[in-house]
Amino acid sequence: MKRLFLTLALVVLSISTITAQKQVPHATSLAKQAKANRTEIVLPQVKGYNCYKGDFHVHTTYSDGRLNPAARVIEAWLDGLDIVAITDHYEHHSGVRNMLKTISMKDSTVIHYRMAKVSHNKIHEEAVAQLKKSGFPMLLVKGGEITRKPEDVGHFNLLFLSDIDAAFDEDPAEAFRKAKAQGGIVMHNHPAWRRNTSDKTEFHEQVYGEGLVDGVEVVNGTTFYPHIVNRCIDEKLAMFANTDEHYLTEQRYGAVGRFRTMTIVLANELTEESVKEAILNRRTIAYSGGSLVGEEMWLNEFLNAAVDCRLTQVSEDSRMFRLTNNSSITLTLIKNRPYILEPFKSLLISIGRDKNSGEYQTPTFVVENMWHANYQHPKIELTIDE
Ligand SMILES: [Zn+2]
Ligand SMILES: [Zn+2]
Repeated sequence: MKRLFLTLALVVLSISTITAQKQVPHATSLAKQAKANRTEIVLPQVKGYNCYKGDFHVHTTYSDGRLNPAARVIEAWLDGLDIVAITDHYEHHSGVRNMLKTISMKDSTVIHYRMAKVSHNKIHEEAVAQLKKSGFPMLLVKGGEITRKPEDVGHFNLLFLSDIDAAFDEDPAEAFRKAKAQGGIVMHNHPAWRRNTSDKTEFHEQVYGEGLVDGVEVVNGTTFYPHIVNRCIDEKLAMFANTDEHYLTEQRYGAVGRFRTMTIVLANELTEESVKEAILNRRTIAYSGGSLVGEEMWLNEFLNAAVDCRLTQVSEDSRMFRLTNNSSITLTLIKNRPYILEPFKSLLISIGRDKNSGEYQTPTFVVENMWHANYQHPKIELTIDE
């Protein structure tokens, strides 16, 4: 009996140690900084739509993340986001599970099950409570991550759910159907996960074929999947870029002076309906590490909205343009040589006549920090503003 008591005492001790380890010390200080300065990422109005900055894939201490839901919300706010979806793993709550694996008691599986059972709706409620307490004008999207070990199934986020727990199913395809029945969206996460290829598996063919998938991550964290850009265009799927953050965005992005990876959503307003409508109509641009990935038309519209282009001087052999970047995104424009157009700065660029036709050339640039197809940059003509 004494021995059993000792075992249990050790178990309790390891529970508290693990809980303490799981939450990095920074989380508490982050919570205290709720009133700290937020990074403002200025993006233009594109064809009448607002550019909202979203992350549709982050984790908390309820699965294998290192920040609690409240701290994740504060982090998203400070990073300049408008939308965040906490998408903890449905299947594994690793801290708890790993610890309980060491117990050899007969009923350990029962304890494991009881402890690992987490209500995802409750996780969302915790995040909402922080949002209300801080008064952040952000949109919190209800979601969860279907996390299957077999590589041919992989991971999918169920987003815009009304009841996160009710969307779960042992059969992943059935979970997608349940999510869709709730009016939700299904996103294919990190499509090359543990496979070294982003090609579809038999399972993927089935669920894509059934129309259950609405979008794919073309970027997960700092990993870019160039082939997925073409898939999104060909199959009319929304492109996403998300952090899939488990630790701190400050460590991965802030430390190198970058905004966090995000999905820019071109929507009418910051409401669930409006943002969902924009995603289903594929008005998204993926942002990561200073690059923008999207459909050519939207990249064209975005560049023209961000850059003010004025004709300042005309001479016999050339025209001078003043380009002003009214966005927070540094733009790399190439015409014979690269021009780095920094945020809220102007450049004067002289463009000569075409050698063959003798006509003045238009201000058309290959945009090196934009990607619109497999490893390809778009060539965009700037409209001359008056
Ligand atoms: Zn995943
Ligand atoms: Zn994830």
